[in-house]
Amino acid sequence: MIIFKFGGASVKDADSIRNLAEILKEFKDQRLFVVVSAMGKTTNFLESIADLGYKEVSEGLSPLHQFHEQHITIGKELGLTRFDQLDAWLEELRVHVSNSSVNFNEYYDQIIPYGELYSTSIIADFLRQELTDITWLDAREMIITNSDFRNAQVHWEKTSRNIGAMDLGDNMYITQGFIGSSEIGQMSTLGREGSDYTAAIFGNCLNAEEVIFWKDVPGIMNADPKLFPQSEKFERLSYQEATEMTYYGAKVIHPKTLKPLAHKGIPLKVKSFIHPAGIGTVIADESSEEYLPTYVFRPNQVLVTLKSRSNEFTDEKLLIEILTVLDDIGVRLNMMQRSALSFSFSTDDEDGIIEAIHRECQGPFEVYHNQGLHLATVKNFNQKSLKLLPKAKEILLEQITRFNYQRLYRA
Ligand code: ASP
Ligand code: MG
Repeated sequence: MIIFKFGGASVKDADSIRNLAEILKEFKDQRLFVVVSAMGKTTNFLESIADLGYKEVSEGLSPLHQFHEQHITIGKELGLTRFDQLDAWLEELRVHVSNSSVNFNEYYDQIIPYGELYSTSIIADFLRQELTDITWLDAREMIITNSDFRNAQVHWEKTSRNIGAMDLGDNMYITQGFIGSSEIGQMSTLGREGSDYTAAIFGNCLNAEEVIFWKDVPGIMNADPKLFPQSEKFERLSYQEATEMTYYGAKVIHPKTLKPLAHKGIPLKVKSFIHPAGIGTVIADESSEEYLPTYVFRPNQVLVTLKSRSNEFTDEKLLIEILTVLDDIGVRLNMMQRSALSFSFSTDDEDGIIEAIHRECQGPFEVYHNQGLHLATVKNFNQKSLKLLPKAKEILLEQITRFNYQRLYRA
């Protein structure tokens, strides 16, 4: 069994879906299990519907129509004529959008999954015209999660039991990425870009030979080509190296993806849906790994400095206190440094985060902050790779460790 995952960009319109069908035909002698995201930017669009609907802004229903019609249009371009399933889902969606009596995250998760449901339904119907024996599978019946809506944690025991109990036969399976259901049957989502993780869950539970992510890039690059023209592609990466890249914020794969695959030694290939014959990148066990310097850029950073009002040394005990408070507010430290009387760190400048830090820390500390910064991380750096970093107007924090270089700067 091979697991395929197609992201939003690979199914964004009728032509892309025809391209997907061509790729599947190349593999028609294999047993395939295909995980698909919502089309193009549909998830963002549904998010805006959820935002409006929750505030009970009355336009809530007209974008819903737009969502529905966009899918019907693509379906028709693909030669489909019946949309009973989509019509039924539209009715469900209307009900969910008007039911804003629950907390926002739960509300969100009853709306957003329709992007994946719609896309997989259209794609499965289209593929039935092109290839035989296609089974559309409802991922909500397989992936069971807790009720941490928008970031639901997978209940592995139940999920693997469900998946293990399927009688797969020789059919090709099409299912949704990113979505599941809570133990009491509400819809849940695994976090944005979570389709990668879904593919890994199925890969693990089905003991797949390999998992292939079809993307709009030739493979995994050592830097985002849009930000860094000198970027190069990896032929091979170890699970560990790839995991670290996701930790520093490289948007190559969803951070939770690699563990379930590494656990069973299932290789993950990242290949281009534009040039499917290319070899892409293979993520597998250590052997023959390359150590290219890898660049990860995180924009929108804020540098915060906490300085003790009572001139207390920043000793280990005080650090524990500081980290406990920061953890409670949900601050993620991207880079940090302590000095005798202060502690500095950078974090993603998300809505409300600076206010929360000031509020929670200003009792014992003076709190300073600088916004509008960028963080560059170079893994496996060498002197030459540092020279290639983008120009900085001002460097506010810099750190060199055994394998990594980090720089917090104003561009
Ligand atoms: N459609 C979801 C998103 O855009 C999940 C995914 O694409 O992986 O985040
Ligand atoms: Mg996506």
